[in-house]
Amino acid sequence: MLKGKTAVVTGGTRGIGLAVVRKFLENGAAVALWGSRQETVDAALEKLRAENPDWNVTGMAPDLGSLREVEAAMNRVKEQFGRLDILVNNAGISARNSFYDYTEEEFERIMDLNLNAVFRCARAAAPLMRAQGGGVILNTSSMVSLYGQAAGAGYPTSKFAVNGLTRSLARELGKDHIRVNAVAPGVIRTDMVAALPKEMIEPLIATIPLGRVGEPEDIANAFLFLASDLASYVTGAVLSVDGAAMT
Ligand code: NAD
Repeated sequence: MLKGKTAVVTGGTRGIGLAVVRKFLENGAAVALWGSRQETVDAALEKLRAENPDWNVTGMAPDLGSLREVEAAMNRVKEQFGRLDILVNNAGISARNSFYDYTEEEFERIMDLNLNAVFRCARAAAPLMRAQGGGVILNTSSMVSLYGQAAGAGYPTSKFAVNGLTRSLARELGKDHIRVNAVAPGVIRTDMVAALPKEMIEPLIATIPLGRVGEPEDIANAFLFLASDLASYVTGAVLSVDGAAMT
């Protein structure tokens, strides 16, 4: 489904991001996975190359807090692969602090990665995509971007903003044949969710109509669809992949 395409996936070293990288490689794309540290990037590359030595995958650890660094990394990917077709903004962090303990620094830390880094990566990728005649930018939202969350206010706030950025960029960049969409995962079995206490997870599962948490591959499949030409008329969408959870 992605033969001949090239992609950047941020936060591609584990969890949902790694599942997206694998899915894209399985479907013929060349992928640059980005992570927060070179060691974790190298470990992910080693794992993927062991799974299939023919996969065309590289990795980097640019500072997503710096537009200049992100632009340099995006240009490097373009030089390596010859083009840039797909950007998946997946890197993200969450915290569930009580609002009464919430510090300004914590709020800014969450917003800087979950929202500002999405802006930076899209800002760096869009000119390259426009110059080659189009591309696809995909963002990672969350089911909490629809309902909010009763703790850790910064996280849902950042994801509401990701939806706003997604819809706005879709409208602005459509004329350049750049599609912009988001996937809003529900509760997915990754490190982020594994870190939650059992007392929190079990009642959560009981409220999910499909009766289970999602797997990273459930989310990767949605990204694959949106990245592919099957979604050629889909832009500005926030696709819920959450088993109809409303937690
Ligand atoms: P994870 O913690 O397993 O992985 C996070 C990834 O982000 C890692 O690759 C990590 O290297 C990268 N990252 C973290 N801090 C970074 C930084 N400062 N700079 C660059 N990269 C950084 O997370 P996950 O559960 O796979 O979540 C991935 C995305 O999905 C996030 O945007 C998250 O908000 C979203 N999401 C997850 C769930 C879930 O249930 N797991 C639900 C809804 C949305």
